[in-house]
Amino acid sequence: MPTTVKLLVNGEWVSSKATETAPVYNPSDGTQIAATPLCGTSDVHRAVQAATDAFPDWANTPAVDRARIMFRLVALMEARFEELAQLVTRENGKTLEDARGEIRRGIEVAEFACGAPALLMGDSLENIARGIDCDTIRQPLGVSVGITPFNFPFMVPMWTLPIALVCGNTYVLKPSERVPLSAIRIGELLTEAGLPPGVFNIVHGGKDAVNALLAHPQVETVSFVGSTPVARYIYETATRNGKRVQSAGGAKNYLIVLPDADLDSTVDAVMGSAYGCAGERCMAGSVLVCAEGAGERFLHPLGESARGFRVGPTDRNAEVDMGPVVTKTHLDRIHQHIENGLQEGADLIVDGRDVMVEETPNGFYLGATIFDQVQPQMSIVREEIFGPVLSTMHTRDLDEAIARCNASGYGNAAVLFTSSGGAARKFRHEVNAGMVGINIGVPAPMAFFPFSGWNNSFFGDLHVQGAEGISFFTRQKVTISRWMDAKRPFF
Ligand code: NAD
Repeated sequence: MPTTVKLLVNGEWVSSKATETAPVYNPSDGTQIAATPLCGTSDVHRAVQAATDAFPDWANTPAVDRARIMFRLVALMEARFEELAQLVTRENGKTLEDARGEIRRGIEVAEFACGAPALLMGDSLENIARGIDCDTIRQPLGVSVGITPFNFPFMVPMWTLPIALVCGNTYVLKPSERVPLSAIRIGELLTEAGLPPGVFNIVHGGKDAVNALLAHPQVETVSFVGSTPVARYIYETATRNGKRVQSAGGAKNYLIVLPDADLDSTVDAVMGSAYGCAGERCMAGSVLVCAEGAGERFLHPLGESARGFRVGPTDRNAEVDMGPVVTKTHLDRIHQHIENGLQEGADLIVDGRDVMVEETPNGFYLGATIFDQVQPQMSIVREEIFGPVLSTMHTRDLDEAIARCNASGYGNAAVLFTSSGGAARKFRHEVNAGMVGINIGVPAPMAFFPFSGWNNSFFGDLHVQGAEGISFFTRQKVTISRWMDAKRPFF
């Protein structure tokens, strides 16, 4: 019987009161490796109470001391780097190389948070009127909540928790029920780094646990990352309940190629964008738009690369280019998308459905897949597939390609491949997306920049990471002072 994972409440690893669990798989071979308790209100209340109780002391801990814990966390994560990457690969299925990238990006947010004493500084101005000074300070809000998706089990929790904690908030994390193990390891390392009990807590589960968190009066901020329908629901519910919310949703990212783009680097970048993390990435390029006849130059080598992609078990074979998707249910959903594309008349030029992985036949595999002649109204271009499926369209020119991209309704990332500075400048100006790549397949910003989806890819105002993260996890207090000191008259 696989072990049911524990909650972290007030520094202790405790059992849930839940009777139901969700399975956690090793997607490479399809075996169940753990069970996630589907926590309800009483578990959530225990965790939020622990975070509430820990808040006053943690908020009063000097920023430099809070930052020292982050420095220790970074050192511990660096020391366990390979182990963390292997854990991500085991529960998510992505290649070790992708998992290493994920760990690196997560640690970078903790490194950013190490700068807390400088990042938290306020402003001041002497003599806003004669003898009167004005200053601002930043203070934490209280209990912060993180609700995270399956596709980055380590990095997405790390997008917000180091910043929330270093700003003086306490935290309750609700990781994806499909991948709870990396989050648990983060909790263990935070404890080892010296974080006081109750400052960071973990509850598990799905909808019920989330709803209990959104309704809890002690929760001040909610950071959500997941699919668009849930992101919208979280934003609407949590703001209605008076919380500050940043809610990142799904994506449909366009990769536009002009005929003057460099052939080899563009093919590599498109392959990495579409099939890295088996396409289970909110920054994945899922629509390829060949403008001005670029398809003639690029489509054949892309097809050849996709056919040559080695698919297999990422937990035991370092030679594979792409691993499985996260669950059998998700695999079936992707198959249904492919079926819909065929029925709508798209041309399946590379079919990944017949991939055979003899080593581990029960894993959740799909090979790299490419559709051509996709039309804007087709479901495969309107809906997020979140798997290794690339849909190709052709447009007369760049204007038409940008218009297609801007009509998508999402707005996470958009990418242009070209050697023309003018085309690149026009694209950056006109494209309706928060993260833009010019000859970069996955334009994911580093920790000191905001991760900024637009439209249906983000609900809220302040994005995750960087200075916007500091603003999200603090509130400003403005003090105006005048001293009536008879012995030392001032002006
Ligand atoms: P998901 O929306 O199914 O789940 C995300 C979280 O919400 C999980 O913790 C889950 O337990 C919870 N949840 C699920 N259904 C819920 C409901 N009805 N009510 C309340 N809570 C619920 O997403 P996923 O499948 O885990 O992750 C993939 C999605 O995340 C994709 O759409 C992807 O684009 C998106 N994503 C977005 C970003 C970004 O930065 N915009 C980053 C990573 C992933």
